[in-house]
Amino acid sequence: MDFSPADAQPLMWITARPDLVFVEGRGSWLTDHRGKRYLDFVQGWAVNCLGHGHPAIVDALAAQAGKLINPSPAFYNEPSLKLARGLTEHSGFDRVFFASTGAEANEGAIKLARKWGKVHKGGAFEIITFTGSFHGRTLATMSASGKPGWDTLFAPQVPGFPKATLNDLASVEALIGPNTVAVMLEPVQGEGGVVPATTEFLQALRHLTTERGLLLIVDEVQTGMGRTGALFAHQHAGIEPDIMTLGKGIGGGVPLSALLAKEAVCCFEAGDQGGTYNGNPLMAAVGVAVLDTLTAPGFLAEVAALGDYLGVKLRELSDELGLNGERGQGLLRALLLADERGPAVVEAARNLAPEGLLLNAPRPHLLRFMPALNVTREEIDRMIGMLRPLLAK
Ligand SMILES: *Cc1c(COP(=O)(O)O)cnc(C)c1O
Repeated sequence: MDFSPADAQPLMWITARPDLVFVEGRGSWLTDHRGKRYLDFVQGWAVNCLGHGHPAIVDALAAQAGKLINPSPAFYNEPSLKLARGLTEHSGFDRVFFASTGAEANEGAIKLARKWGKVHKGGAFEIITFTGSFHGRTLATMSASGKPGWDTLFAPQVPGFPKATLNDLASVEALIGPNTVAVMLEPVQGEGGVVPATTEFLQALRHLTTERGLLLIVDEVQTGMGRTGALFAHQHAGIEPDIMTLGKGIGGGVPLSALLAKEAVCCFEAGDQGGTYNGNPLMAAVGVAVLDTLTAPGFLAEVAALGDYLGVKLRELSDELGLNGERGQGLLRALLLADERGPAVVEAARNLAPEGLLLNAPRPHLLRFMPALNVTREEIDRMIGMLRPLLAK
């Protein structure tokens, strides 16, 4: 091994990282620079929806890399046309704009809503978002996010994102004014701690926004692409939003995101939207491979079954150890601890020997589980077995 954590000095410091360098990944397992293996229930932050090194992704990358990597976003290319067709056929949306990150897709959604407000709603520009929400790390998406402390970070904020309370319709209604153009939310708040919007709330929100002539934007960067057991999480509630954003799982590990919209909302004019890498064939080819895999007969039903299995196992563990239960949808779940040991448990799990376990604690009182969508029941059992002694202490 040529590099070790001691070589990290030239990297700009943005966060504390553990003293290990990952060199290889296969399925639900990662290997570090010393050869230690880790069972991965983080998967690049719910990104590697097919796990590490899935042949469909490796083959798509290799084949497309050898064929055409980038003709420029000013020209059409086959993979992006194919992916746009697939996404519109499998959703209630008519058109797609591709980008590289979730924040960029959300930034596009914000721009599209503001443009629509300018064209159709007398210049209305406010987008109601929610306390505890997470929409990305650009200035506008940080302003849209309801993460504690972010209202003063990098001030001044981008204005126009009043915050309502999730699952409280009256709190949304109270914020609607002449400048309101849209409501934007995650069907399950991921970074906020795996907090699902209820079916009842999503349906009422769709009803309210339609009645008041507002757009409904769903940020499915984390919940989309099969993560919750349906291709898109809003489908569980049977609603049709006007705009949806996708990221994370859509690229199965490579930088790809998408902004989808109903025809009536698509009002960008030439020059309004773009980006050097939008719709580049290398990433789009991976997106096609991912979408084909997720939509193969039986795949999503199995994700739902695996999600139920994980939920049952977490509930059993919670009952056994006197924890506060579990919540989530499909393979996006959280175990609620009885205290704020989350970060310490994450570290202890990683340090387990001979094999480590990778988990994440977006809030100190809970652990989040976002394994590959093709995780096995044996791997779920193994994870529970590794976690039990850490929580029993
Ligand atoms: C991760 C995430 C984003 C940001 O995606 P990036 O690719 O990190 O820019 C936005 N919204 C939600 C719901 C996310 O989970």
